Amino acid sequence: MKDKKASDSYCLGIESTADDFSVGVSTFKGRILANIRSQYVPVEGGIHPREAARHHAEVASNVLEEAFSKSKIKPKNVSVVSFSQGPGLGPCLRTGATVARALASYLNVPLVGVNHCIAHVEIGKLKTGAKDPVTLYVSGGNTIVSAFDSGRYRVFGETLDIALGNCLDVFAREAGLHQTEGKPFGAVVEDLAAKGKNLIPLPYSVKGMDISLSGLLTALTNLLKRREYKLEDLCYSLQETAFSMVTEVTERALAHTEKKEVLLTGGVAANKRLQLMIKAIAEEHDARFCAIPSEFVVDNGAMVAWTGVLAYTHGVVTPIDKSFVKLRWRLEEVEIPWVE
Ligand code: AMP
Ligand code: MG
Repeated sequence: MKDKKASDSYCLGIESTADDFSVGVSTFKGRILANIRSQYVPVEGGIHPREAARHHAEVASNVLEEAFSKSKIKPKNVSVVSFSQGPGLGPCLRTGATVARALASYLNVPLVGVNHCIAHVEIGKLKTGAKDPVTLYVSGGNTIVSAFDSGRYRVFGETLDIALGNCLDVFAREAGLHQTEGKPFGAVVEDLAAKGKNLIPLPYSVKGMDISLSGLLTALTNLLKRREYKLEDLCYSLQETAFSMVTEVTERALAHTEKKEVLLTGGVAANKRLQLMIKAIAEEHDARFCAIPSEFVVDNGAMVAWTGVLAYTHGVVTPIDKSFVKLRWRLEEVEIPWVE
């Protein structure tokens, strides 16, 4: 194994939990040298795991090559290879893991399996300087409010059924909306919502610290069929209702933990209305709203590379025979030796 000083050490991270295949390179000091991403866009319908995995296998070598050329490092300079070990879609995770194992074995460097949700939090902290935030992570596959407590990131609230991004995407498809110029469905809904004025009553479901979105989605699908309301008003009402639910839970986590920073991450974090709502509750609790650059809120390899650095430099390695993917790996299962 190679033994190098932090100044000339690099971790290459591979992200492949769902529709994105991405490779990032981070120095051991947290300088991101490359973050290359290729997204699988289904011709129609939602993400088909095997089709997405096929996309990842097809683009893997090009994305890797681009990451090397952008970072200006050579394969032999890589000290550690990290990969998203879970949670995510099986075929997609396995493709990334296979690439990571092959690369680590070929280069004879350690392999580190990283929890995807934790990687989102860690890159958010790196990019905003947040030390100990409450994080709202909202994406196509996840809706989680978390914060650090006693050696681990804990889940303070989550969705009991579908993820927020998934709710927006399914609604958009049911409404017959189109992703012009590769715009995510969530952003298409956001544009229409900005033109909505009438708040239509919809199921608001917060249960304890958790939320449920499937009833809301069913209600919206039924309203679409009745054609009584303008699509703009439906989008507006969807956003106001669903975003209020996640904001309520985030606010309660903030009040309970008394933390002084709030991170908003995941693909849905791009939404301006959601940003405003989260910013407002942060201000009410004298907490700093930490805005993460958009390149690092979506699924990306840089977050996996940086979390690989944190884990590896604190003694975490994943032997090849323990590097099987974990489809439902919860973030509170992971010990976090790098946070005090
Ligand atoms: P991720 O799972 O992190 O890759 O994020 C993808 C999810 O983010 C999808 O559900 C998108 O529809 C959603 N998304 C992207 N942009 C926006 C936006 N501006 N508003 C709401 N959701 C968005
Ligand atoms: Mg994605």
